[in-house]
Amino acid sequence: MTLYIKNASFIDWQSLAFIQTNIEVRDGKDGGIKFIDEIELSADDTSKILDAKGKFVTKSFGCGHHHIYSTLARGMPAPAKNPQNFIEILKYVWWHLDKNLDLEMIKASALASALYCAKNGVTFVIDHHASPFAIEDCLFTIKEAFETVGLSHLLCYEISDRDGEKISQKGLEETKRYLSAGNQGHVGLHASFTVGKNLLRKAVKLAQDCETGIHIHAAEDKADQDHCLKHHHKRVIQRLFDAGGLDLKGSILGHCLHLDETEKKLLRDSKASWVVQNVESNLNNNVGLTGYSNHGDQIMLGTDGMHSDMLKSAKAAFFVGQGTEGISFPGIYERFRNVHKYIKDNDFKGDGDNNLVILDYPAPTKMNADNFLGHFVFGIESSHVDSVVSSGQLIVEEKKLVSANEEDILSFAKEMGTKLWGKLS
Ligand SMILES: [Zn+2]
Repeated sequence: MTLYIKNASFIDWQSLAFIQTNIEVRDGKDGGIKFIDEIELSADDTSKILDAKGKFVTKSFGCGHHHIYSTLARGMPAPAKNPQNFIEILKYVWWHLDKNLDLEMIKASALASALYCAKNGVTFVIDHHASPFAIEDCLFTIKEAFETVGLSHLLCYEISDRDGEKISQKGLEETKRYLSAGNQGHVGLHASFTVGKNLLRKAVKLAQDCETGIHIHAAEDKADQDHCLKHHHKRVIQRLFDAGGLDLKGSILGHCLHLDETEKKLLRDSKASWVVQNVESNLNNNVGLTGYSNHGDQIMLGTDGMHSDMLKSAKAAFFVGQGTEGISFPGIYERFRNVHKYIKDNDFKGDGDNNLVILDYPAPTKMNADNFLGHFVFGIESSHVDSVVSSGQLIVEEKKLVSANEEDILSFAKEMGTKLWGKLS
């Protein structure tokens, strides 16, 4: 079925040109859009027509680094010990939570996160998942949940030696099974300090075999560098470079906060690797202020599982970036939109022109191509997301999820949250 959007003020996400038009939206991962003067439907045509009069239509958004596994954490009981540093935050909060996840909870987490993404205009999600005692089928479970809501995705399991070799082997097996089944995704690794020599070698080999990249947290906290220097006698980015991890197609390195100039040069020289920035998570974990003065151009934005709102991430990155790297309006907008470049350059599917968001943004001043970025930084928020089209399918209409039942998703998540919290305490 073709979808039409009439009376659109279309904002070209690249040129920022404003175009008054009607839009024909063709569905499918290879679908596109066409500007048309008139919408002419025969009497028996059941095509859907949305009226965007007074609203703005533009490309929908993508998240470069999410953790659906953290969805049920909101409001959970306090940890056994109040964490004093980053390693303790992992140990007492996140590793305690992810060890208690089962497949049902993972399904609920993925559905609820997908719901939030959809309602915030995010149609493409790159996720990094952990559930060491529920690895088998976890990626297939997340895929099914995302596709129920109608999101495109790149998934991975964050393989780690932190729970022993048997579990890291299971992570490799699930990844191989998922990617070999024709699914697009990455070979996920937790971070250098929980990935031993053998595992890194195997993961890079698996990524080479599957023609994809690794997705890993890198130098998020200084502790990752200290561990790498002590155990591998080199710094984190050097270690990944030496293992071949930076040459892989579309590797994603999360955070990259604590790099020296040699590591930054390795990143700049790598044509394949991307950095993903998660500024609110860095503030929350108190691991350092996020800034990328010399890391090259291949930087995109993620949420690190803090939330599913990329407009919020962009604003936070802009405000922190003022002090750390003097970021400009065009600079933050480019970083916000870089996820599309990442997806396109690496031939991943699901982010074509037929991914759109309709914004009901009652601007208090005029908005045009010349001043759009001022509205982007200070005005447009996810509360203005009215309707969302993912690969040509309408998934949110007038702020309501239409691809799946919103109430059912949230009540299932609450039920699974209660089950998880019972296991935590
Ligand atoms: Zn992360």
